[in-house]
Amino acid sequence: MGRVEGKVALVTGAASGIGRACAEQLAAEGAAVILTDLQDEMGRAAAEAVTAAGGKAEYLHHDVTSEEEWVEIVGEIGRRHGRLDVLVNNAGIGVGGSILEFSLADFRRQTAVNLDGVFLGMKHSIPLMRKGGGGSIVNMSSVAGLKGSANLAAYCATKGGVRLMTKAVAMECANAKDGVRVNSVHPGIIETPIWDTIVGTGEPGTNALPRTATLDQMSSMAVPLGVKGMPQDIANGVIWLASDESRYVTGAELVIDGGLTVR
Ligand code: NAD
Repeated sequence: MGRVEGKVALVTGAASGIGRACAEQLAAEGAAVILTDLQDEMGRAAAEAVTAAGGKAEYLHHDVTSEEEWVEIVGEIGRRHGRLDVLVNNAGIGVGGSILEFSLADFRRQTAVNLDGVFLGMKHSIPLMRKGGGGSIVNMSSVAGLKGSANLAAYCATKGGVRLMTKAVAMECANAKDGVRVNSVHPGIIETPIWDTIVGTGEPGTNALPRTATLDQMSSMAVPLGVKGMPQDIANGVIWLASDESRYVTGAELVIDGGLTVR
């Protein structure tokens, strides 16, 4: 038996990076996985790779900023599977820059994906989870939700917001005794394409990232364990939160950062 055998799991932003690794891990441990993203070609390829490896996966186009699309996606999962046990609110973007030059449009672009997307995901998934007797929601925050980083004000605002929204909804579900657990995950420096948009935003000597450093250089300087993380390191934590092994865990924050936030 796999660790999430028989469960139905939705992973947003699953075409790439951490979301793809989570989807692969959930399928490898027995879940039927719905992968969603904006990048349809990559998303379909990710679902096909899971199927080729013997897992159950399907891909659906889904913009997490759209409430209409959330209603459609959750409705479709209800029709196809009759239940939803796991939601990994993973889709995210990183927009860097000094607050003095940051436009309100960019701030709203950042919050629309990272904060509205997580809010809408929880709002529309919890009713279907409740029908099935409960579930596990995993919200992807960041070390940027735990401490400040220069030139990442908007990103930090969203990830800090995800951290506390997670705890608020965890308490609401606990009060309702609905069997829904809600936790956040806080990755450190993980090798994925998201860094293409964030790298270069920091000034050397600040607590932001050095302007010209590669992920390896940044990690050797900033991370106590000395190395960058890989998407699988995050998926290894997500699978535990998704499974019944964590049945007594809600409102918690799982930090997977090689010690980055400790120092
Ligand atoms: P990534 O760019 O590889 O993956 C993000 C995915 O989200 C992409 O496939 C993208 O198409 C999708 N996406 C973006 N906007 C979307 C939208 N509106 N609707 C649906 N999908 C959308 O990056 P990643 O590093 O794998 O990021 C995954 C999550 O992990 C993000 O929430 C990110 O903030 C968080 N995170 C990453 C790191 C890191 O070091 N990589 C660290 C901390 C937190």
